[in-house]
Amino acid sequence: MSNEWEIVIGLEVHVQLRTRAKVFASSSWGFGKEPNEQVDPVVLGLPGTLPVVNREAVEKAILFGLVVDAEIPDQCAWDRKNYFYPDLPKGYQISQHTAPICKNGFVKIHTSSEKKIQLNRIHIEEDAGKSIHDIDENYSCIDLNRAGVPLVEIVTEPVIHSSEDAFAFLTELRKILRWIDVCDGNMEEGSMRCDANISIRLKGDNQLGKRVEVKNLNSIRNVKRAIDFEFNRLIEITENNQIIHQETRSFDADKNITFALRSKEDAEDYRYFPEPDLPPFIIDEVY
Ligand code: ADP
Ligand code: MG
Repeated sequence: MSNEWEIVIGLEVHVQLRTRAKVFASSSWGFGKEPNEQVDPVVLGLPGTLPVVNREAVEKAILFGLVVDAEIPDQCAWDRKNYFYPDLPKGYQISQHTAPICKNGFVKIHTSSEKKIQLNRIHIEEDAGKSIHDIDENYSCIDLNRAGVPLVEIVTEPVIHSSEDAFAFLTELRKILRWIDVCDGNMEEGSMRCDANISIRLKGDNQLGKRVEVKNLNSIRNVKRAIDFEFNRLIEITENNQIIHQETRSFDADKNITFALRSKEDAEDYRYFPEPDLPPFIIDEVY
């Protein structure tokens, strides 16, 4: 029965840009420091502080865009993505919603045949801090070293149709990022993180099915395992005439299963608006 189903996958990859300073502040950053050692007033979101764009981060994002044949629009702009989370001191993340630094582009993979995996966009944003949960003591700690680390989010179109192709895409992407020294690509340390959006449809169907998003995938191999698990789970739900919920799920690598985290938020929930502290900026041809 199950071979009449087709899997549809779109990947969102967060990549930490190898810069010296954070994206809107002067703190340095790097893996393995003491908690809250790499912070400053801007990172902490203290009243009266203002962000300043890190040129090195913009240049690394553009370099990656050029390598994957993306368009670099003349003008790009910043937006506020609002949400509350203890590891997000300002109560919002500065990101790019309407005018990202790069559009389109593709990454070539070689599996059963040569394929171009079409990218939708590449945008710059700031990373959040980390909540560390102490299970025995029943409290949580916040480490803001990661807050404000420059990220690019690389988003593919929903054009990947097997876990093998997803694996090949991420392997190729990591190779490119390392080669041009934009990111070290260490998924175990979180410098490259991938969310997999997955849906199924009957072969030959053109419409997209309802998708689930799987997070917390800390290796390329686990991305593949999570996709394989999810493909079977979605088929089973559908064939039992049950309903697929649009939700965010997490992967448990020990049990080799995914489990529901929360229902998926839509873009409207974030109340995006243009970032008032940072003007749009021009990237001219000469630059
Ligand atoms: P969000 O930012 O809310 O996660 P986007 O619309 O930007 O949502 O999509 C994110 C990713 O999900 C993209 O990689 C896109 O290709 C993929 N995607 C969207 N719809 C589907 C679907 N029905 N099945 C599989 N992937 C999808
Ligand atoms: Mg998403």
